[in-house]
Amino acid sequence: MPEKPLSLADELEIFVREQASQFGEVISYVPAKRNQPITTASVTETTKEVLAPVSSTLRIAELEEKLAPYNSEAWRQATSLDVMKEIIHDCTKCALGATRTKLVFGTGSAKAKVMVIGEAPGADEDAAGEPFIGRAGQLLTKMLEAVNFSRDEVFITNILKSRPPNNRDPKPEEVAACEPYLWKQIELIQPKFIICFGRVAGMNLLKLETATLAKMRGNVYDLHGISVMVTYHPAALLRNPDWKKGAWEDLQKFRQLYDAAV
Ligand code: SF4
Repeated sequence: MPEKPLSLADELEIFVREQASQFGEVISYVPAKRNQPITTASVTETTKEVLAPVSSTLRIAELEEKLAPYNSEAWRQATSLDVMKEIIHDCTKCALGATRTKLVFGTGSAKAKVMVIGEAPGADEDAAGEPFIGRAGQLLTKMLEAVNFSRDEVFITNILKSRPPNNRDPKPEEVAACEPYLWKQIELIQPKFIICFGRVAGMNLLKLETATLAKMRGNVYDLHGISVMVTYHPAALLRNPDWKKGAWEDLQKFRQLYDAAV
């Protein structure tokens, strides 16, 4: 009789168990360092390269400067995520407004300490108007839960709020049109940490046009006082299970960074 395929939950449970034994030292290191301020030196011990010290205090003036060109637009003046979502729900600032089904604004806590940022909605997300659903979305949930974050306590969104046809990479003009919405979301939420899932998300958020994922992974970047890390997109992990080991390592580092600062 052919073997019954494993469910995603079973796969993840096995994955977490395997990685937990492989990275046992890292896991036990997390509670030991909890509540201790993280320093550049301690980050250096666990990362390949540190591009900025970790402050985790939002430099709001820098965001306001980036958003200043949009001060006359209604969404810029929104005082809550709900109001902003209502204002931009029928946005057509770029060509994707004509081809999407639903704008995918983002979901989660309006007071999240952690923002989760992906590249752009896919077909499932476009149909539902929700980010990270479907198989990759389920894996994202499991990845977050593996390091004790629930979807409800973080805020999940994308660089682009509308789906590019056939899931192609975002075009520069689409990113330019849409990223002010992300800056506004960051201004409203004021997170201390951002984790980007995938090269395209990290590259566009951090403006590292030529960076590979290998180059970004493991680093802690400073973005207006917010600590940012980049790891694999869950869809890539579904295609390449061998990369799960690296993703687990990244998530452990991210949790370590979070625990040291909150
Ligand atoms: S991708 Fe962004 S800028 Fe383009 S139409 Fe959608 S919401 Fe508007």
